[in-house]
Amino acid sequence: MPRLYLLLGGNLGDRVLYLQQARAGIAKRIGILERSSSLYETAAWGNTEQPAFLNQVLEVQTELSPEQVLQDINMLEQELGRVRLEHWGARVIDIDILFYDDLVLQTQRLTIPHPQLHLRRFTLLPLAELAPELVHPVLGKSISTLLVDCPDELEVREFGAGSFDAS
Ligand code: AMP
Repeated sequence: MPRLYLLLGGNLGDRVLYLQQARAGIAKRIGILERSSSLYETAAWGNTEQPAFLNQVLEVQTELSPEQVLQDINMLEQELGRVRLEHWGARVIDIDILFYDDLVLQTQRLTIPHPQLHLRRFTLLPLAELAPELVHPVLGKSISTLLVDCPDELEVREFGAGSFDAS
């Protein structure tokens, strides 16, 4: 079964609860939730006057196609009451497809691997926790190497380690 890596992020309301609801929705609609990273907290990217984001990476085994995964994550984002206030604005939950096995895909609706994943520490850190040896199929580098090379200077810190169940 194809292995999918998803990035969850949110910076509004009860962030931990929205992430938990997103994981439940993913397990119900998309596939088997194999592993979840710790939660990480990051200052908002691109707009520093917003609340900080919580992010988490999930490893999922799915029988769905990438297009079906995109459809389901869009529905899930809507269900969870996403409100898009502005570009890079606040939202309760955002779900991105990072990798789908070693597939390389570029269509009008979907780019896989996610085009920004190697530029953002808030993506690379949780991903490195789950899959440090995974090699990016376009850049030909492992996640741990991409993390060392990453120019992003935003601080990303582990959130509430040990104080709650992030499974
Ligand atoms: P945003 O919510 O700003 O992340 O943008 C969502 C839109 O980006 C989706 O409706 C997709 O059509 C498009 N998109 C392109 N590549 C990806 C990807 N790898 N993961 C999620 N959305 C993607």
